[in-house]
Amino acid sequence: MHDVMLLGLLLTAIAIGFGLGIRYAARRHRQAPTAPPSQLSREYFVGLNYLLNEQPDEAINTFISALDVNSDTVDTHIALGKLFRTRGEADKAVSIHQNLLARPALSHGTNERIQLELARDFIALGVHDRAQRLLHSLLEQSTDDERRYAAKQLLVGLLEREREWQTALEVIQPLLKQHPGMRRPASHWLCELAIEEIQQSSRALAKKHLKKALLLDERCIRATLLLADLEMDNGHYGRAIERLDHIPEQDGAHIPTMLPTLQRAYSRNDDIAGLEKHLYSLLGQAPYTSVIVMLGELIHQRDGVDTAIELTGNWLRDAPSLGGLDYLLDLYVESQQLSGRTAPDTRLSLLKYHTDALLKDRPRHQCRRCGFTSDALAWQCPSCRRWGTIKPITGVEGE
Ligand SMILES: [Zn+2]
Repeated sequence: MHDVMLLGLLLTAIAIGFGLGIRYAARRHRQAPTAPPSQLSREYFVGLNYLLNEQPDEAINTFISALDVNSDTVDTHIALGKLFRTRGEADKAVSIHQNLLARPALSHGTNERIQLELARDFIALGVHDRAQRLLHSLLEQSTDDERRYAAKQLLVGLLEREREWQTALEVIQPLLKQHPGMRRPASHWLCELAIEEIQQSSRALAKKHLKKALLLDERCIRATLLLADLEMDNGHYGRAIERLDHIPEQDGAHIPTMLPTLQRAYSRNDDIAGLEKHLYSLLGQAPYTSVIVMLGELIHQRDGVDTAIELTGNWLRDAPSLGGLDYLLDLYVESQQLSGRTAPDTRLSLLKYHTDALLKDRPRHQCRRCGFTSDALAWQCPSCRRWGTIKPITGVEGE
């Protein structure tokens, strides 16, 4: 709908432009009656006719072929190119932008703007090598900071797709001071490099990358998690726990993400009492369902089902959630079985049927920027391609 409105606005703008041109031509005509009739007016009416017959593509083509490229109209051409690209017709955008670049009279700045648009068209078409070549040549010639930054952003976007993390870091390194927003993606590229090093058993190098990632973005919990994993691999469970202890202050929303590693570290350290204490402290910070369930399960294993029901029920009273209710129902069913009743309580089974159905296929993670949801945690959002924006869904229906 937005697309259609934009198209309408652009065409109206072009039509007004032509209208003015015709009036100007008519005025000149009055002043000089021997001048030939304007060629523009015929194409204007042909275009208008297409527009009225709801043939917007033909209308645009006619207007474009009639519209002179000069400093007044070049923005309209660029806007039309963008419009085609957003409509999924990047091939038409390419021909508009290439046609513009063929004009010799363009200013240096305009030429570079069009090259950027053309690179975006190539990316949309999936012709990444052409986009890369264009961006490299633009970076060689351009001295404009803003356009250089835009070109580098497009280039690192392509390098990310190719998983060329080191090259992406080299491209963006000189800009980190001026553009702190790039520190987060760069910290994730370092995490990616660390994972590659871990796969090649170069743990020391991996650790170096991860520490650098935390220097770039102190809230990079992915680096903290990977550092904790490295400590675990070396059998340093206490150190792994110390690392994980930073996560609530780095980003409290990721407490559910770190719980499995935390549990593993304490169990390997044979310190279940330590895990219980740790979970109570996390519960005091934020009563996430996953913390409540993990703590409830510890109580369940140690003190039996009825104590677990009592404590879990109390915690859930302050922080009700679907997942918590589902866990509590499991405990009730078990308690009922233990009490020796032969016939199961159908009311409990019915409630459990509903919580199961509500929890089934429920996404567990969501991008805080674009709303994309997924079951697994991805560090780069597949939809908006931002890094570190996907987090566990918490609250009544969440973790
Ligand atoms: Zn997103």
